[in-house]
Amino acid sequence: MSSQIDHLLDETRSFPPSADFAASAVAKPELYERAAADREGFWGEQARELLHWHKPFTNVLDWSAPPFAKWFDDGELNVAYNCLDRHVEAGNGDRVALLWEGEPGDERRITYAELTDEVKRVANVLAGYGVGHGDRVAIYLPMIPEAVASMLAVARLGAIHSVVFGGFSADSLRSRIDDAGAKVVITADGGYRKGRVSALKPAVDQALSDRGDGEQQTVEHVLVVKRGENEVDWVEGRDHWWHEAVPAASADHEAQAFPAENPLFILYTSGTTGKPKGILHTSGGYLTQAAYTHRNVFDLKPESDVFWCTADIGWVTGHSYVTYGPLANGATQVLYEGTPDTPHPGRWWEIIQKYGVTIFYTAPTAIRSFMKTGRAVPQKFDLSSIRLLGSVGEPINPEAWMWYREVIGAGETPIVDTWWQTETGAIMVSALPGVTAAKPGSAQVPLPGISIDVVDETGSEVGNGNGGLLVITEPWPAMLRGIWGDPERYKETYWEKFEDQGYYFAGDGARLDADGDLWLLGRVDDVMNVSGHRLSTAEIESSLVAHEATAEAAVVGASDETTGQAVVAFVIIKESYLAEHDPAGLATQLRQWVGEQIGAIARPRDVYIVGELPKTRSGKIMRRLLRDVAEGREVGDTTTLADTAVMSIISAQVK
Ligand code: ATP
Ligand code: MG
Repeated sequence: MSSQIDHLLDETRSFPPSADFAASAVAKPELYERAAADREGFWGEQARELLHWHKPFTNVLDWSAPPFAKWFDDGELNVAYNCLDRHVEAGNGDRVALLWEGEPGDERRITYAELTDEVKRVANVLAGYGVGHGDRVAIYLPMIPEAVASMLAVARLGAIHSVVFGGFSADSLRSRIDDAGAKVVITADGGYRKGRVSALKPAVDQALSDRGDGEQQTVEHVLVVKRGENEVDWVEGRDHWWHEAVPAASADHEAQAFPAENPLFILYTSGTTGKPKGILHTSGGYLTQAAYTHRNVFDLKPESDVFWCTADIGWVTGHSYVTYGPLANGATQVLYEGTPDTPHPGRWWEIIQKYGVTIFYTAPTAIRSFMKTGRAVPQKFDLSSIRLLGSVGEPINPEAWMWYREVIGAGETPIVDTWWQTETGAIMVSALPGVTAAKPGSAQVPLPGISIDVVDETGSEVGNGNGGLLVITEPWPAMLRGIWGDPERYKETYWEKFEDQGYYFAGDGARLDADGDLWLLGRVDDVMNVSGHRLSTAEIESSLVAHEATAEAAVVGASDETTGQAVVAFVIIKESYLAEHDPAGLATQLRQWVGEQIGAIARPRDVYIVGELPKTRSGKIMRRLLRDVAEGREVGDTTTLADTAVMSIISAQVK
């Protein structure tokens, strides 16, 4: 990407940590030195400090058969014991683990002692269904405490969970159940979304029925939480109510130790670029890095903080920063069932005010949607408890970063922009609060213990001031151990491109600025080539979002007879702008704006003003679908799209 334009690099704002924050910060600058001096020794220390090992390990890393890594291989632990029992045994049983808020406003406070009890009962119920070491359990639940308890109960038994996002259809659920060969499904009658009950159990029934001749059914039992109170069909012998089975089970259950490399979960990627992949994670290394990053990146003080990660447990962020990281660290956290704007657009801010949330972690897509409705909404609430903000999922445009800091963070809260993937299991690149001076729009530096580089197509370092491909150059504890059932695809997808160097290829483009800080430029598949110039989606989108009219933008390259590819932009306008301006002529203005800000080469050929953008269920923009529209093709696979109607609306707006 040598001829790429340096627009994002014009961003010169930088916010050093305050002296106060730095003085009491969990992460100290020495962490970088310790990790650099002895990387494996450093991870060994983290694993011993942060976790309880039933049997201590002596080997940190076995990389004798790359790309298949083993971490802490001869050690043994129980993941659920680490997240629950040990906190109770240490005298913290009365600490609140979950501050749960249902969408209709009902609430539950669950302490570590109560959650431990519940998980033991669920483990006994599942064991009664024959679930044991290595068996797979599918979890298809709303964001209710039972979702977290189910994950931990499966982990406690040394079994493997596959959480399927509750918004997915019966077909998606079925393919995930079949791929994993699940023995049990845990679901609910329904859950609250957008002000009404959205049914779940019928999708499970459908996923488990109408099989073709000879097609094997692996599911023997379905455990059903009563949440929506909606009517459900019942299969006697197969279906069991949670509220009958769980309270009746014993709360005695001793956590058995399992090897560090025991599989913990399978989780499918978001499907932003194509068909989702079933990513496999194991126990000891995963939990070490989840706990380490949660503690250091979020500056966690478990006695006083109230943490809130808004991700659904159906995504990796919900695995690592709702269930495993926070509970391993003994944190108190908010869990919210519903959508951000139900029953009113200030719902999230109301929850922050109500529970005194101190650390808030969300996605750029959410931040940009709040920018669209305007700052008046959050400003009605007291957000003064917040002391740290985080972002994950997509590049955060500098304008959105500034809005987040000013409006949600009172103009002074540190922001950590965290880069990672389902495959990496935990955060890889981020500022450390109290240590790093933050630059809006940059994910900044690899965490201590993580080795990242930006290379060209041949695998050579591009050096500061240049762009290229993001690679991970050394194995890391929470790395995926494979794609479920498909070791060849694992090698091909991530390791073949830089086989000689032994680098993991992340699929993302990035640039190093003059200080060596990382700027994510979007997916390599989305990079545009205009008259021989390689342009990144993130740069042009950031420029569009920097215009006062724009709330959100997506940019794609569409084939063009003269330039090879041409830039085509899809833009959502802020409501506040529309209230005061006539949008006529805005497309022309925006084309000129990008031309002035970046250069004539980046000026979009077309700017389409649209009402919505196509997003995955995890909120990421699916540019490949917009490319189909821009090139006048039939729209491709939309199965992981949040709202399938969006594409026909956009197509109509474009015509
Ligand atoms: P699929 O792999 O199926 O296309 P996906 O990549 O969207 O789906 P995830 O694992 O949920 O699935 O997302 C990881 C990707 O999200 C990263 O590779 C990167 O493109 C993007 N991402 C995550 N965090 C950041 C961040 N802080 N800055 C920039 N990009 C980010
Ligand atoms: Mg991906």
